[in-house]
Amino acid sequence: MAKIMIEEKNNAQIVAEGQQYLMNIYGRLPIAMVRGEGCRVWDADGKEYLDFVAGIAVNSVGHCNPRVVDAVCTQANRLIHCSNLYWIPPQVELAKLLVEHSALDKVFFCNSGAEANESAIKLARKAAKETHPGEEKYEIITMLKSFHGRTLATLTATGQEKVQVGFDPLPAGFCYVPYNDIDALRAAVNERTCAVMLEPVQGEGGVIAADPEYLRQVRRLCDEKHLLLIFDEVQVGMGRTGKLFAYEHSGVVPDIMTLAKALAGGAPIGAMLAKEEVAAHFRPGDHGTTFGGNPLVTAAGVAAVKEMLEKHLPENAEKMGHYLEEKLMLLKNRYSFIEGTRGQGLLLGLKLSVPGAAIVQSCLEKGLLINCTAGDVLRFMPPLTITKEDADRFLTILTAALDEVE
Ligand code: PLP
Repeated sequence: MAKIMIEEKNNAQIVAEGQQYLMNIYGRLPIAMVRGEGCRVWDADGKEYLDFVAGIAVNSVGHCNPRVVDAVCTQANRLIHCSNLYWIPPQVELAKLLVEHSALDKVFFCNSGAEANESAIKLARKAAKETHPGEEKYEIITMLKSFHGRTLATLTATGQEKVQVGFDPLPAGFCYVPYNDIDALRAAVNERTCAVMLEPVQGEGGVIAADPEYLRQVRRLCDEKHLLLIFDEVQVGMGRTGKLFAYEHSGVVPDIMTLAKALAGGAPIGAMLAKEEVAAHFRPGDHGTTFGGNPLVTAAGVAAVKEMLEKHLPENAEKMGHYLEEKLMLLKNRYSFIEGTRGQGLLLGLKLSVPGAAIVQSCLEKGLLINCTAGDVLRFMPPLTITKEDADRFLTILTAALDEVE
C-alpha cells in the first residue's frame, strides 16, 4: 500500500505562513503545537512542554484524554451534526449530567464562553421584561476587571476598557462596580437594574477570588431587589477550583450560570444553565444557534464530565492546588518581586511587582508553558489530572526562571 505522505513543517515555517494568512489579533509565542498527551504537549520542532496553560483552562481532563478521543471518534462515525430542529441524544445526556450535578434546572448549549454569556444577558433582559412589564429594566451590573467575552454585548459587560476601545458605540445597559465591594454594588442598583453578573474567581482580571461572605451578601441583595444573579463560570467551572462548580465554595446558588472552556475536553462548547422559573422566559424562537450542542461536541462533553466525576478530578484539583499554593507562598520570601499568591484549586496566580512576560518566555525555553494575565500576574492552570511529580517539575522550572529575574 502506498504510504501517505504528510507534509511536516517546523515551527518557523508554520509561524511564517500564519503571519501571512491569519489576522493579527493574538500575541502568539513563536511555536506551533502539534501533539498533546495528558499534561504534556509537543511543538512542531519536536520539543516537549509541561503544560500549565491547558488551552487557558480548557484541557482539564488532560490532552487527548482517551475517553474523550474515543467518544469523538465513535460519534464522528455515527453522526457529526444535525440541527436543533431535532432532538440530539448526547446533548440531552450532557444536559442531564449538568442538571443532576448542579443546583440549576435547564441548559442551553452554544459554542463558546462569550456566547454563553450573551445568552445569559438576553435571558436576564427577557425575564425582567416579563416580570416587570412596562418598566425599563435592562441594566446589568458587572465588575471592574471582569472578563466576559469578545462579542459586542460581552465586551461591554467586561469591566476593562482595553477590550472596548475602538468598538463604540457599545450596547447600552451595563455598569461596573469594584469587585468584592458590597457597598459599591448596593449603591449602583437602581430602577433599571435587572441583574448582577460576576465571576466567582476573576481569571483574566488577575486571578482574584470573591470573598464567600461577599457572594452571600450579593445573593441577599439580589433577592431583596428582585435581581437575577449570574455567575460566569466559564473559566472556573468544571472542577478547576476544587469543586465541580465554583459557586459550591460559598453555597451561593446563582439564577443563571455560564460554562464553556473545560466542559467538553477541548471541543468548542458553551452552556448557559438557569433555574427553571428563569429559563421559562425563553420560548421557541427567542434564541438559538446552528452548531450549539451538536452531536460531536456534546458526545465529547459527556465523556469529559463522566471522566471528571469518576476520576474525582475536582478533588485532585483541590489537593494539588493546596500543595502548589503552599510551595508558591514560600517563593514570596525568596524573591523580592513576588507580592503574593492568588486563586483557588488549580487556578493559581503569582502577583509580581515586575512584568511577567520575560518569565513566561524563559519558562517556555525551559519546557514549561505558563501564562501571564493583567501584565504582572503569572497564571497557572494545568490539567486537573496533574500528579505531585508534575507539580514538582513545574516548581523546579519556574524557580529557575525566577532566578534569572534577580
Ligand atoms: N468568561 C470568562 C470568565 C472567561 O475567562 C472567558 C475567556 O477567557 C470568556 C468568558 C469568554 O470565553 P470564550 O473565549 O470561549 O468566548
